[in-house]
Amino acid sequence: MMKTDVVIVGGGPGGAATAVFLAKHGIQSIIIEKEQFPRFHIGESMTGECGNMVRAMGLEEEMLKRNHPVKYGVLVYGQGGNNTFWVPVMKRDEQGNLQDSFTWQVRRSDFDKMVLDHAIAQGATLIQGQATKVLRAEDGAVCGVQVRLADGSVEEIHAEVVVDASGAATFLSNAGVASKKERGKYDRQVAVYSHVKGAIRDEQDNTLIFYEKKNHWGWFIPIDAETVSIGVVAPSDYYRAYEGDMRSYFLQQMHKINPELSKRVPDVELVEEVRATSNYSYHVKQFTGKGFLCVGDSHRFIDPIFSFGLHFALTEARLAAQAIAGYMNGENRDAENPFADYQAYSELGMDVIEDLVDCFWENPLSFAFFVHTRYVDDFIDLFAGRVYQDPPSPGLQAIRKVNAKARAKKTAVSAQAYA
Ligand SMILES: Cc1cc2nc3c(=O)[nH]c(=O)nc-3n(C[C@H](O)[C@H](O)[C@H](O)COP(=O)(O)OP(=O)(O)OC[C@H]3O[C@@H](n4cnc5c(N)ncnc54)[C@H](O)[C@@H]3O)c2cc1C
Repeated sequence: MMKTDVVIVGGGPGGAATAVFLAKHGIQSIIIEKEQFPRFHIGESMTGECGNMVRAMGLEEEMLKRNHPVKYGVLVYGQGGNNTFWVPVMKRDEQGNLQDSFTWQVRRSDFDKMVLDHAIAQGATLIQGQATKVLRAEDGAVCGVQVRLADGSVEEIHAEVVVDASGAATFLSNAGVASKKERGKYDRQVAVYSHVKGAIRDEQDNTLIFYEKKNHWGWFIPIDAETVSIGVVAPSDYYRAYEGDMRSYFLQQMHKINPELSKRVPDVELVEEVRATSNYSYHVKQFTGKGFLCVGDSHRFIDPIFSFGLHFALTEARLAAQAIAGYMNGENRDAENPFADYQAYSELGMDVIEDLVDCFWENPLSFAFFVHTRYVDDFIDLFAGRVYQDPPSPGLQAIRKVNAKARAKKTAVSAQAYA
Protein backbone atom coordinates (compact mmCIF):
# COMPACT_ATOMS: atom_id res chain seq x y z
CA MET A 1 0.00 0.00 0.00
CA MET A 2 1.26 3.49 -0.91
CA LYS A 3 0.11 6.87 0.37
CA THR A 4 0.23 10.33 -1.17
CA ASP A 5 -1.69 13.63 -1.14
CA VAL A 6 -3.22 13.28 -4.62
CA VAL A 7 -3.34 10.36 -7.00
CA ILE A 8 -3.83 11.25 -10.66
CA VAL A 9 -5.18 8.71 -13.13
CA GLY A 10 -3.65 9.48 -16.54
CA GLY A 11 -0.34 11.11 -17.41
CA GLY A 12 -1.58 12.98 -20.52
CA PRO A 13 -1.50 16.80 -20.57
CA GLY A 14 -4.39 17.14 -18.09
CA GLY A 15 -2.87 14.76 -15.54
CA ALA A 16 0.73 15.88 -15.91
CA ALA A 17 -0.23 19.58 -15.74
CA THR A 18 -2.31 18.91 -12.60
CA ALA A 19 0.82 17.44 -11.00
CA VAL A 20 2.90 20.47 -12.08
CA PHE A 21 0.39 22.96 -10.63
CA LEU A 22 -0.05 20.89 -7.44
CA ALA A 23 3.73 20.94 -6.96
CA LYS A 24 3.57 24.75 -7.07
CA HIS A 25 1.24 24.52 -4.02
CA GLY A 26 3.65 22.11 -2.34
CA ILE A 27 1.30 19.15 -2.82
CA GLN A 28 2.65 15.67 -3.53
CA SER A 29 1.17 13.56 -6.28
CA ILE A 30 1.43 10.15 -7.90
CA ILE A 31 0.53 9.83 -11.57
CA ILE A 32 -0.71 6.47 -12.89
CA GLU A 33 -0.19 6.05 -16.64
CA LYS A 34 -0.93 2.86 -18.54
CA GLU A 35 0.90 3.71 -21.75
CA GLN A 36 4.64 3.96 -22.26
CA PHE A 37 5.46 7.53 -23.42
CA PRO A 38 6.12 8.77 -26.06
CA ARG A 39 2.85 7.55 -27.55
CA PHE A 40 0.72 8.86 -30.44
CA HIS A 41 -2.17 11.17 -29.59
CA ILE A 42 -4.35 13.39 -31.73
CA GLY A 43 -5.04 17.04 -30.78
CA GLU A 44 -2.17 19.22 -31.93
CA SER A 45 -3.26 22.85 -32.16
CA MET A 46 -3.40 25.12 -29.10
CA THR A 47 -5.44 28.20 -28.27
CA GLY A 48 -3.71 31.38 -27.07
CA GLU A 49 -4.64 30.82 -23.44
CA CYS A 50 -3.51 27.20 -23.70
CA GLY A 51 -0.10 28.58 -24.72
CA ASN A 52 -0.27 30.76 -21.60
CA MET A 53 -0.88 27.65 -19.45
CA VAL A 54 2.26 26.14 -20.99
CA ARG A 55 4.06 29.35 -20.01
CA ALA A 56 2.56 29.17 -16.50
CA MET A 57 4.07 25.70 -16.15
CA GLY A 58 7.48 27.25 -16.92
CA LEU A 59 7.84 25.54 -20.29
CA GLU A 60 8.04 28.41 -22.80
CA GLU A 61 11.81 28.24 -23.22
CA GLU A 62 11.69 24.49 -23.71
CA MET A 63 8.89 24.84 -26.29
CA LEU A 64 10.91 27.35 -28.30
CA LYS A 65 14.02 25.16 -28.05
CA ARG A 66 12.09 22.21 -29.47
CA ASN A 67 10.92 24.29 -32.45
CA HIS A 68 7.24 23.45 -32.16
CA PRO A 69 5.63 25.46 -34.97
CA VAL A 70 4.45 28.81 -33.68
CA LYS A 71 0.76 29.61 -34.33
CA TYR A 72 -0.35 33.21 -34.84
CA GLY A 73 -3.94 32.39 -35.57
CA VAL A 74 -6.49 30.20 -37.29
CA LEU A 75 -7.59 30.64 -40.89
CA VAL A 76 -10.99 29.18 -41.76
CA TYR A 77 -11.86 28.57 -45.41
CA GLY A 78 -15.54 28.45 -46.28
CA GLN A 79 -17.09 26.07 -48.75
CA GLY A 80 -15.27 26.05 -52.09
CA GLY A 81 -12.42 28.06 -50.57
CA ASN A 82 -14.60 31.20 -50.30
CA ASN A 83 -15.62 33.44 -47.40
CA THR A 84 -12.39 33.01 -45.51
CA PHE A 85 -11.99 34.37 -42.01
CA TRP A 86 -8.90 34.78 -39.86
CA VAL A 87 -8.76 34.96 -36.08
CA PRO A 88 -5.37 36.05 -34.71
CA VAL A 89 -3.97 34.78 -31.40
CA MET A 90 -3.98 37.83 -29.13
CA LYS A 91 -3.56 38.30 -25.41
CA ARG A 92 -5.00 40.91 -23.05
CA ASP A 93 -2.46 43.14 -21.28
CA GLU A 94 -2.89 44.40 -17.73
CA GLN A 95 -4.99 47.34 -18.94
CA GLY A 96 -7.24 44.89 -20.80
CA ASN A 97 -5.99 45.88 -24.26
CA LEU A 98 -5.49 43.27 -26.97
CA GLN A 99 -1.85 42.63 -27.86
CA ASP A 100 -0.27 40.42 -30.53
CA SER A 101 0.76 37.04 -29.19
CA PHE A 102 1.34 33.49 -30.33
CA THR A 103 0.81 29.93 -29.26
CA TRP A 104 1.97 26.56 -30.62
CA GLN A 105 1.13 23.49 -32.66
CA VAL A 106 2.71 20.31 -31.38
CA ARG A 107 3.50 16.71 -32.13
CA ARG A 108 1.65 15.22 -29.20
CA SER A 109 3.99 12.31 -28.58
CA ASP A 110 6.76 14.85 -27.96
CA PHE A 111 4.66 17.47 -26.13
CA ASP A 112 2.93 15.00 -23.79
CA LYS A 113 6.24 13.41 -22.82
CA MET A 114 7.76 16.83 -22.19
CA VAL A 115 4.94 17.80 -19.80
CA LEU A 116 5.05 14.42 -18.04
CA ASP A 117 8.84 14.65 -17.62
CA HIS A 118 8.39 18.18 -16.28
CA ALA A 119 5.86 16.93 -13.71
CA ILE A 120 8.35 14.30 -12.56
CA ALA A 121 11.12 16.93 -12.40
CA GLN A 122 8.80 18.99 -10.14
CA GLY A 123 8.51 16.05 -7.73
CA ALA A 124 5.58 13.95 -8.99
CA THR A 125 6.00 10.17 -8.96
CA LEU A 126 5.06 8.24 -12.08
CA ILE A 127 3.70 4.73 -11.71
CA GLN A 128 3.43 2.75 -14.90
CA GLY A 129 0.19 0.78 -14.71
CA GLN A 130 -3.55 0.88 -15.11
CA ALA A 131 -5.97 2.18 -12.50
CA THR A 132 -8.64 -0.51 -12.27
CA LYS A 133 -10.73 0.20 -9.17
CA VAL A 134 -11.74 3.02 -6.88
CA LEU A 135 -11.12 2.75 -3.13
CA ARG A 136 -13.66 4.24 -0.72
CA ALA A 137 -13.46 5.22 2.94
CA GLU A 138 -16.13 4.18 5.47
CA ASP A 139 -18.13 7.37 4.85
CA GLY A 140 -18.19 6.62 1.10
CA ALA A 141 -15.61 9.25 0.14
CA VAL A 142 -13.18 8.27 -2.60
CA CYS A 143 -9.80 7.68 -0.97
CA GLY A 144 -7.58 6.08 -3.59
CA VAL A 145 -7.30 3.65 -6.45
CA GLN A 146 -6.19 0.12 -7.13
CA VAL A 147 -3.60 -0.20 -9.87
CA ARG A 148 -2.52 -3.13 -12.00
CA LEU A 149 1.21 -2.61 -12.49
CA ALA A 150 3.11 -3.37 -15.67
CA ASP A 151 4.38 -6.68 -14.17
CA GLY A 152 0.80 -7.83 -13.43
CA SER A 153 0.91 -7.22 -9.68
CA VAL A 154 -1.69 -5.08 -7.90
CA GLU A 155 -0.99 -2.04 -5.73
CA GLU A 156 -3.32 0.13 -3.65
CA ILE A 157 -2.63 3.86 -3.58
CA HIS A 158 -4.35 5.90 -0.89
CA ALA A 159 -4.76 9.65 -1.25
CA GLU A 160 -6.76 12.63 0.03
CA VAL A 161 -7.98 13.33 -3.49
CA VAL A 162 -8.25 11.27 -6.67
CA VAL A 163 -7.99 13.25 -9.91
CA ASP A 164 -9.37 11.58 -13.00
CA ALA A 165 -7.34 12.72 -16.03
CA SER A 166 -7.90 9.52 -18.00
CA GLY A 167 -9.21 11.31 -21.10
CA ALA A 168 -11.88 9.63 -23.19
CA ALA A 169 -11.48 6.48 -21.03
CA THR A 170 -13.57 8.40 -18.39
CA PHE A 171 -12.31 6.21 -15.54
CA LEU A 172 -14.44 7.63 -12.70
CA SER A 173 -17.60 7.70 -14.79
CA ASN A 174 -17.10 4.07 -15.81
CA ALA A 175 -16.46 3.16 -12.17
CA GLY A 176 -19.87 4.65 -11.25
CA VAL A 177 -18.27 7.40 -9.13
CA ALA A 178 -18.81 10.34 -11.48
CA SER A 179 -22.15 10.36 -13.32
CA LYS A 180 -22.92 8.45 -16.50
CA LYS A 181 -21.31 9.48 -19.76
CA GLU A 182 -24.04 11.12 -21.86
CA ARG A 183 -23.82 11.42 -25.60
CA GLY A 184 -22.73 14.90 -26.77
CA LYS A 185 -24.24 16.93 -29.60
CA TYR A 186 -21.39 16.21 -32.02
CA ASP A 187 -21.29 12.49 -31.39
CA ARG A 188 -22.31 11.12 -34.78
CA GLN A 189 -19.14 12.06 -36.60
CA VAL A 190 -15.93 10.33 -37.58
CA ALA A 191 -12.50 11.96 -37.74
CA VAL A 192 -9.95 10.25 -40.00
CA TYR A 193 -6.40 11.57 -39.84
CA SER A 194 -2.68 11.07 -40.42
CA HIS A 195 0.60 12.97 -40.61
CA VAL A 196 2.02 13.89 -44.02
CA LYS A 197 5.29 15.13 -45.46
CA GLY A 198 5.54 17.21 -48.63
CA ALA A 199 2.46 19.40 -48.04
CA ILE A 200 2.61 22.95 -49.38
CA ARG A 201 2.63 25.25 -46.38
CA ASP A 202 1.84 28.93 -46.05
CA GLU A 203 4.55 31.42 -45.20
CA GLN A 204 3.35 31.38 -41.59
CA ASP A 205 2.63 28.01 -39.95
CA ASN A 206 -0.93 28.61 -38.76
CA THR A 207 -3.79 26.21 -38.21
CA LEU A 208 -6.07 25.96 -41.25
CA ILE A 209 -9.67 24.76 -41.18
CA PHE A 210 -11.58 23.80 -44.32
CA TYR A 211 -15.36 23.83 -44.32
CA GLU A 212 -17.20 21.51 -46.69
CA LYS A 213 -20.70 21.51 -45.21
CA LYS A 214 -22.35 21.16 -41.83
CA ASN A 215 -20.23 18.83 -39.64
CA HIS A 216 -17.99 18.01 -42.60
CA TRP A 217 -14.61 19.71 -42.51
CA GLY A 218 -10.85 19.26 -42.41
CA TRP A 219 -7.77 20.50 -40.55
CA PHE A 220 -4.17 21.26 -41.57
CA ILE A 221 -1.82 21.67 -38.59
CA PRO A 222 1.97 21.94 -39.06
CA ILE A 223 3.64 19.96 -36.27
CA ASP A 224 7.32 20.23 -37.16
CA ALA A 225 9.52 21.62 -39.93
CA GLU A 226 8.44 18.88 -42.39
CA THR A 227 5.30 17.30 -41.04
CA VAL A 228 1.69 18.43 -41.15
CA SER A 229 -1.23 16.79 -39.36
CA ILE A 230 -4.23 16.49 -41.66
CA GLY A 231 -7.65 15.28 -40.65
CA VAL A 232 -11.10 15.10 -42.16
CA VAL A 233 -14.29 14.98 -40.12
CA ALA A 234 -17.60 13.85 -41.57
CA PRO A 235 -20.99 12.62 -40.38
CA SER A 236 -20.81 8.88 -39.55
CA ASP A 237 -23.42 7.99 -42.23
CA TYR A 238 -21.34 9.69 -44.89
CA TYR A 239 -18.21 7.82 -43.78
CA ARG A 240 -20.02 4.47 -43.66
CA ALA A 241 -21.34 4.94 -47.19
CA TYR A 242 -17.78 5.00 -48.57
CA GLU A 243 -16.91 1.61 -50.03
CA GLY A 244 -13.10 1.61 -49.96
CA ASP A 245 -10.72 1.30 -47.01
CA MET A 246 -9.86 4.05 -44.50
CA ARG A 247 -6.62 5.04 -46.20
CA SER A 248 -8.22 5.53 -49.60
CA TYR A 249 -11.11 7.42 -47.94
CA PHE A 250 -8.59 9.75 -46.32
CA LEU A 251 -6.72 10.36 -49.58
CA GLN A 252 -9.97 10.93 -51.45
CA GLN A 253 -11.30 13.37 -48.85
CA MET A 254 -8.07 15.39 -48.80
CA HIS A 255 -8.70 16.16 -52.45
CA LYS A 256 -12.45 16.49 -52.22
CA ILE A 257 -13.61 18.59 -49.32
CA ASN A 258 -12.14 21.97 -50.23
CA PRO A 259 -9.91 23.28 -53.07
CA GLU A 260 -7.78 25.14 -50.50
CA LEU A 261 -6.87 21.80 -48.90
CA SER A 262 -6.42 19.92 -52.14
CA LYS A 263 -4.00 22.49 -53.56
CA ARG A 264 -1.75 22.05 -50.52
CA VAL A 265 -1.45 18.28 -50.88
CA PRO A 266 -0.67 17.58 -54.57
CA ASP A 267 1.93 14.98 -53.72
CA VAL A 268 2.28 13.97 -50.10
CA GLU A 269 3.74 11.00 -48.26
CA LEU A 270 1.81 9.61 -45.29
CA VAL A 271 4.27 9.18 -42.42
CA GLU A 272 1.79 7.89 -39.81
CA GLU A 273 -0.84 5.22 -40.16
CA VAL A 274 -4.31 6.51 -40.97
CA ARG A 275 -6.39 6.45 -37.80
CA ALA A 276 -10.02 7.20 -37.01
CA THR A 277 -11.87 8.41 -33.93
CA SER A 278 -15.63 8.37 -33.58
CA ASN A 279 -18.11 9.01 -30.75
CA TYR A 280 -15.83 11.62 -29.24
CA SER A 281 -18.52 14.02 -28.08
CA TYR A 282 -19.83 13.30 -24.57
CA HIS A 283 -20.66 14.88 -21.25
CA VAL A 284 -20.28 13.62 -17.66
CA LYS A 285 -22.34 16.17 -15.73
CA GLN A 286 -21.48 15.29 -12.12
CA PHE A 287 -17.70 15.04 -12.06
CA THR A 288 -16.72 16.09 -8.56
CA GLY A 289 -17.54 14.85 -5.08
CA LYS A 290 -16.03 13.77 -1.79
CA GLY A 291 -12.43 12.90 -2.53
CA PHE A 292 -12.52 13.26 -6.31
CA LEU A 293 -12.65 15.50 -9.35
CA CYS A 294 -12.15 15.15 -13.10
CA VAL A 295 -10.11 17.31 -15.50
CA GLY A 296 -10.10 17.62 -19.28
CA ASP A 297 -11.51 14.91 -21.52
CA SER A 298 -12.32 12.67 -18.55
CA HIS A 299 -15.60 14.58 -18.12
CA ARG A 300 -16.46 16.32 -21.39
CA PHE A 301 -15.49 16.76 -24.99
CA ILE A 302 -17.49 18.88 -27.38
CA ASP A 303 -16.09 19.07 -30.92
CA PRO A 304 -12.52 19.41 -32.17
CA ILE A 305 -13.28 22.19 -34.71
CA PHE A 306 -11.65 25.12 -32.85
CA SER A 307 -8.97 23.23 -30.88
CA PHE A 308 -10.16 23.53 -27.28
CA GLY A 309 -9.20 20.07 -25.96
CA LEU A 310 -5.71 20.84 -24.68
CA HIS A 311 -6.94 24.23 -23.57
CA PHE A 312 -9.46 22.73 -21.15
CA ALA A 313 -7.11 19.96 -20.02
CA LEU A 314 -4.44 22.50 -18.98
CA THR A 315 -6.75 25.25 -17.72
CA GLU A 316 -8.74 22.82 -15.58
CA ALA A 317 -5.48 21.32 -14.30
CA ARG A 318 -4.61 24.71 -12.85
CA LEU A 319 -8.12 25.28 -11.47
CA ALA A 320 -8.19 21.78 -9.98
CA ALA A 321 -4.82 22.32 -8.28
CA GLN A 322 -6.16 25.56 -6.72
CA ALA A 323 -9.31 23.80 -5.51
CA ILE A 324 -7.31 20.90 -4.07
CA ALA A 325 -4.86 23.28 -2.36
CA GLY A 326 -7.81 25.03 -0.70
CA TYR A 327 -9.24 21.70 0.39
CA MET A 328 -5.92 20.51 1.82
CA ASN A 329 -5.76 23.79 3.75
CA GLY A 330 -9.09 23.08 5.37
CA GLU A 331 -11.60 24.70 2.97
CA ASN A 332 -14.91 22.88 2.39
CA ARG A 333 -13.75 19.87 4.44
CA ASP A 334 -17.27 19.10 5.61
CA ALA A 335 -19.12 20.12 2.49
CA GLU A 336 -21.27 17.55 0.73
CA ASN A 337 -19.19 18.28 -2.38
CA PRO A 338 -15.90 20.06 -1.63
CA PHE A 339 -15.24 20.67 -5.33
CA ALA A 340 -18.67 21.97 -6.38
CA ASP A 341 -17.28 25.44 -7.25
CA TYR A 342 -14.58 23.92 -9.44
CA GLN A 343 -17.23 21.90 -11.25
CA ALA A 344 -19.52 24.90 -11.83
CA TYR A 345 -16.66 27.05 -13.09
CA SER A 346 -15.35 24.34 -15.44
CA GLU A 347 -18.83 23.84 -16.88
CA LEU A 348 -19.24 27.58 -17.39
CA GLY A 349 -16.17 27.63 -19.68
CA MET A 350 -17.14 24.52 -21.62
CA ASP A 351 -20.72 25.76 -22.06
CA VAL A 352 -19.36 28.91 -23.71
CA ILE A 353 -17.43 26.84 -26.23
CA GLU A 354 -20.44 24.66 -26.92
CA ASP A 355 -22.39 27.88 -27.66
CA LEU A 356 -19.61 29.06 -29.99
CA VAL A 357 -19.51 25.74 -31.85
CA ASP A 358 -23.33 25.53 -32.07
CA CYS A 359 -23.40 29.00 -33.61
CA PHE A 360 -20.74 28.06 -36.17
CA TRP A 361 -22.62 24.95 -37.33
CA GLU A 362 -26.19 26.17 -37.03
CA ASN A 363 -25.87 29.85 -38.00
CA PRO A 364 -22.79 30.14 -40.23
CA LEU A 365 -23.91 33.44 -41.77
CA SER A 366 -24.41 35.15 -38.41
CA PHE A 367 -21.15 33.62 -37.20
CA ALA A 368 -19.25 35.02 -40.19
CA PHE A 369 -20.77 38.48 -39.67
CA PHE A 370 -19.90 38.45 -35.95
CA VAL A 371 -16.33 37.25 -36.37
CA HIS A 372 -15.53 39.48 -39.37
CA THR A 373 -17.35 42.65 -38.63
CA ARG A 374 -19.53 43.03 -35.59
CA TYR A 375 -17.72 41.51 -32.60
CA VAL A 376 -14.15 41.09 -33.81
CA ASP A 377 -12.47 41.59 -30.42
CA ASP A 378 -14.98 39.44 -28.54
CA PHE A 379 -14.38 36.61 -31.00
CA ILE A 380 -10.61 36.99 -30.62
CA ASP A 381 -11.17 36.49 -26.89
CA LEU A 382 -13.38 33.45 -27.40
CA PHE A 383 -10.99 31.78 -29.83
CA ALA A 384 -8.11 32.47 -27.44
CA GLY A 385 -10.06 30.65 -24.73
CA ARG A 386 -11.04 33.60 -22.50
CA VAL A 387 -14.27 31.83 -21.76
CA TYR A 388 -14.88 32.33 -18.06
CA GLN A 389 -16.89 35.48 -18.72
CA ASP A 390 -19.05 37.17 -16.14
CA PRO A 391 -20.91 39.06 -17.48
CA PRO A 392 -20.80 37.55 -20.98
CA SER A 393 -19.33 39.84 -23.66
CA PRO A 394 -21.70 41.38 -26.24
CA GLY A 395 -20.31 38.90 -28.79
CA LEU A 396 -21.18 35.93 -26.57
CA GLN A 397 -24.63 37.38 -25.87
CA ALA A 398 -25.19 37.70 -29.62
CA ILE A 399 -24.17 34.06 -30.13
CA ARG A 400 -26.65 32.96 -27.48
CA LYS A 401 -29.41 35.04 -29.02
CA VAL A 402 -29.06 33.54 -32.49
CA ASN A 403 -28.70 30.03 -31.02
CA ALA A 404 -31.90 30.48 -29.01
CA LYS A 405 -33.72 31.75 -32.10
CA ALA A 406 -32.54 28.77 -34.16
CA ARG A 407 -33.62 26.36 -31.41
CA ALA A 408 -37.05 27.99 -31.16
CA LYS A 409 -37.45 27.72 -34.94
CA LYS A 410 -36.50 24.02 -34.87
CA THR A 411 -38.97 23.35 -32.06
CA ALA A 412 -41.74 25.12 -33.97
CA VAL A 413 -40.98 23.07 -37.09
CA SER A 414 -41.07 19.77 -35.15
CA ALA A 415 -44.26 20.80 -33.35
CA GLN A 416 -45.86 21.46 -36.72
CA ALA A 417 -44.72 18.09 -38.03
CA TYR A 418 -46.45 16.31 -35.13
CA ALA A 419 -49.58 18.49 -35.07
C1 LIG B 1 -10.30 14.22 -33.89
C2 LIG B 1 -9.80 15.06 -32.75
C3 LIG B 1 -9.00 16.18 -33.02
C4 LIG B 1 -8.55 16.97 -31.96
N1 LIG B 1 -7.81 18.11 -32.22
C5 LIG B 1 -7.43 18.91 -31.19
C6 LIG B 1 -6.66 20.07 -31.43
O1 LIG B 1 -6.30 20.42 -32.56
N2 LIG B 1 -6.29 20.81 -30.36
C7 LIG B 1 -6.63 20.47 -29.08
O2 LIG B 1 -6.29 21.18 -28.15
N3 LIG B 1 -7.32 19.34 -28.83
C8 LIG B 1 -7.74 18.56 -29.85
N4 LIG B 1 -8.41 17.42 -29.58
C9 LIG B 1 -8.68 17.06 -28.18
C10 LIG B 1 -7.43 16.57 -27.43
O3 LIG B 1 -6.90 15.47 -28.07
C11 LIG B 1 -7.82 16.21 -26.00
O4 LIG B 1 -8.75 17.15 -25.51
C12 LIG B 1 -6.64 16.17 -25.02
O5 LIG B 1 -5.74 15.17 -25.38
C13 LIG B 1 -7.15 15.94 -23.59
O6 LIG B 1 -6.10 15.72 -22.70
P1 LIG B 1 -6.32 14.81 -21.41
O7 LIG B 1 -5.06 14.89 -20.65
O8 LIG B 1 -7.62 15.16 -20.78
O9 LIG B 1 -6.51 13.32 -22.00
P2 LIG B 1 -5.49 12.41 -22.81
O10 LIG B 1 -4.54 13.26 -23.56
O11 LIG B 1 -6.30 11.45 -23.60
O12 LIG B 1 -4.68 11.63 -21.70
C14 LIG B 1 -5.28 10.62 -20.92
C15 LIG B 1 -4.21 9.63 -20.48
O13 LIG B 1 -4.78 8.76 -19.52
C16 LIG B 1 -4.26 7.45 -19.70
N5 LIG B 1 -5.22 6.52 -19.08
C17 LIG B 1 -6.51 6.31 -19.44
N6 LIG B 1 -7.09 5.42 -18.61
C18 LIG B 1 -6.16 5.09 -17.69
C19 LIG B 1 -6.18 4.20 -16.57
N7 LIG B 1 -7.27 3.53 -16.18
N8 LIG B 1 -5.02 4.07 -15.86
C20 LIG B 1 -3.90 4.75 -16.21
N9 LIG B 1 -3.84 5.58 -17.27
C21 LIG B 1 -4.96 5.77 -18.00
C22 LIG B 1 -4.15 7.33 -21.21
O14 LIG B 1 -3.22 6.35 -21.58
C23 LIG B 1 -3.70 8.74 -21.61
O15 LIG B 1 -2.30 8.86 -21.72
C24 LIG B 1 -8.87 16.61 -30.62
C25 LIG B 1 -9.65 15.48 -30.37
C26 LIG B 1 -10.12 14.73 -31.42
C27 LIG B 1 -10.99 13.53 -31.12
